[in-house]
Amino acid sequence: MSKCFLETSQITQELVDQMNQRSKHFEVLDQSKKDPKLNFGSYRACLYFDQPSTRTRHSFIAALQFLGISYSDFGDTRRSSMEKGESIQDTFKTLFTYYDIVILRTSDESVLDVAHVVAKSHQKTLINAGQGSKEHPTQALLDCVTLERERENHKLLRGSMSAIIVGDYDRGRAAKSFAMAYKNLGWGSIQVVGPAPLTKTSEYPVVPLSKALGEADIIYMTRLQSEYGGVSDAEFDYQDYALGPKEVSLLKPKAIVLHPLPRGKEIPEPFDTDSRAYYWKQEKVGFYTRAALIEALLL
Ligand code: ASP
Repeated sequence: MSKCFLETSQITQELVDQMNQRSKHFEVLDQSKKDPKLNFGSYRACLYFDQPSTRTRHSFIAALQFLGISYSDFGDTRRSSMEKGESIQDTFKTLFTYYDIVILRTSDESVLDVAHVVAKSHQKTLINAGQGSKEHPTQALLDCVTLERERENHKLLRGSMSAIIVGDYDRGRAAKSFAMAYKNLGWGSIQVVGPAPLTKTSEYPVVPLSKALGEADIIYMTRLQSEYGGVSDAEFDYQDYALGPKEVSLLKPKAIVLHPLPRGKEIPEPFDTDSRAYYWKQEKVGFYTRAALIEALLL
């Protein structure tokens, strides 16, 4: 496996299986609270995040801690020498001089390519933790690992599952990355549900929510991504794409509802206790999957 994890296209069935198996092992190890003795103590990592994050940031931090890797946070970019005019390239040259792994989330899609050139020349590890509205490959990986586990429990067959992606498809990197991974893996059909102004780039059929809900095995909910602009929220009512009581009554008894989180109002809190709500489990699987991914990149 290459030392960097940058694109959703790197997700293969083999990788999902490997991450599934290893993340399950890590979960058991972690719950035992015994020293996992994973021997990565000589590695150092840096998190460079110029966009807000709770889950991705902290699951990566927890994963690094679990593996015994010390880490630091790049912090506010305005406190770095970029404020004095230093280039992105020189900034990453510096980071890869000190660190073995850089975990990068950036609003500027082009930064990833610059960082990758430097990572390659230093033979170091770069992980894409969210690239503008374009890609979020580690989210897609953990989504697929979560689904692979539930698929087994639900006796769903790869190749014949049906998924719908609900909400802000165009600006949602998590939604698009999940769709791409699911499609590349050949797991089944995909349909998109959402307001017309937010589903213009969908290569999948865009269908009404009420029609799609009752047939879907997997419902991938997403929040409104207003921070990316481009569309006025006044053009639609996002509540039309929420899981209200009427929509919940249409769900299959064994549907799997995922959400990359954070949520807005599209999933009301009372649904959390429904047996079809898998997003908190998905969040937890994310921690162990990211630990398994870092391990695989370093071995
Ligand atoms: N946490 C995911 C992301 O960073 C989803 C979201 O923010 O809506 O893209």
